[in-house]
Amino acid sequence: MTGHRIAIPAFAVVFFCSLCLGQSSVVERYDSSARKIVAEALGSNQSWNMLVDLCTTIGHRISGSPQAARAVEWAKKQMEGYGFDNVHLEPVMVPHWVRGTVEEASLIYGSGKHERLKITTLGGSIGTAAEGITAEIIEVKSFDELRRLGDKAKGKIIFYNRPMDRKQISTFAAYGGAVDQRGSGAIMAARAGGVAALVRSMTTRIDDFPHTGGMGYVDSVKKVPGMAVSTLQAERISKLLAKGERLKLHFRLSAQTLPDVESFNVVGELTGTENPGEIIVIGGHLDSWDIGQGAHDDGAGCVQSIEAFRILKKLGLKPKRTIRAVMFMNEENGLRGGIAYAAKDRPGEKHLAAIESDEGGFRPRGFGIADSAAFRRIAPWAPLFSFFDADLIRLGGGGADISPMGPKGIPLMSMIVDTHRYFDSHHSDNDILSVVNERELAFGAAAMAILTYVMAQEGL
Ligand SMILES: [Zn+2]
Repeated sequence: MTGHRIAIPAFAVVFFCSLCLGQSSVVERYDSSARKIVAEALGSNQSWNMLVDLCTTIGHRISGSPQAARAVEWAKKQMEGYGFDNVHLEPVMVPHWVRGTVEEASLIYGSGKHERLKITTLGGSIGTAAEGITAEIIEVKSFDELRRLGDKAKGKIIFYNRPMDRKQISTFAAYGGAVDQRGSGAIMAARAGGVAALVRSMTTRIDDFPHTGGMGYVDSVKKVPGMAVSTLQAERISKLLAKGERLKLHFRLSAQTLPDVESFNVVGELTGTENPGEIIVIGGHLDSWDIGQGAHDDGAGCVQSIEAFRILKKLGLKPKRTIRAVMFMNEENGLRGGIAYAAKDRPGEKHLAAIESDEGGFRPRGFGIADSAAFRRIAPWAPLFSFFDADLIRLGGGGADISPMGPKGIPLMSMIVDTHRYFDSHHSDNDILSVVNERELAFGAAAMAILTYVMAQEGL
């Protein structure tokens, strides 16, 4: 205290001091650890090394596949290799959809000319009989437009061509505004008397990669096949139709759904030194679609979660509360792993929070926190992430795999990343190592490590 006396209202003093003694000291206490964590993530490059291993030795790994079974072993081995505690598998029955070996389509012009069209079967779709299906293509932008077609839709292949809205700031909002065409397109096509759904790929990018993804059926409606076409081809087909070309599509698919298969969530821990029964879950999903390498979706989230643990262990940062890494199985076509994790009885455990990284391994910007009390607690920690520009703490967040924990009152959180390029490769042949940047990936692992460590020390 200097000799100057300045009149400061008492409430301001109280407020100011609570800031210095409480929250700002959290930042002071962990600033040096945060910097060490980032240095270790960048210096070791282990998240990238793990992703290379996962993507090249196993590759894509859809639920129920031999690759998914190998990915389970892989994740367990990684965790054991880094000396995690209590590494174990939690069984879960998962759907087993297979694309099969036949997937071909051709456009047939009014003149009779045939032209090969690259398509991808949508996940969950039925296949066709061996001779395939040939029918005229009719374009719509919405289910309303399809309804208004009335009898004109009968016997046709319904071509859904409403693009993701480019004006949306959030690419996830744009995806959410278009994905009904993929998810319910086959049901609505069959209701209208159509014979198949052909869907414009879910991406804002105009290129020649068809993107797959989940689609559904309902028991009360006849099942018809669903497939996606690249945005480039969707625009071309649309132009041809607009010019009055009577286009048909001939296609053959061998997809089918086989009986459910036993698979596993892979779990490992850093046991808390003071409150081991208080759990913070971090994770991503181990399964991917059956094309590409599942590099961003969600190999990135898995290796970042494992790397966050490795870093804490390497730096000798011992959490007071237990941090648990969960590699969830079957996010893409069933969410069975997430549901099973939340449903499992875990006596003596209290989950403090669950954090998911499943928006790609892009540059982290901060964290979204779905729970307002947790948000208020964590928001003042933002300066800990400022030195690498990842200090955005926003209300609202979560992830598909951890969503079943939400109704149990567990605060859900997600890493916020720069997602403008996420849908470029999402669910396509292009979701491969070369679209992931190793530094961005490492920063994400570091951000996850910092948040989980501080939560483990400070509680929520
Ligand atoms: Zn994902």
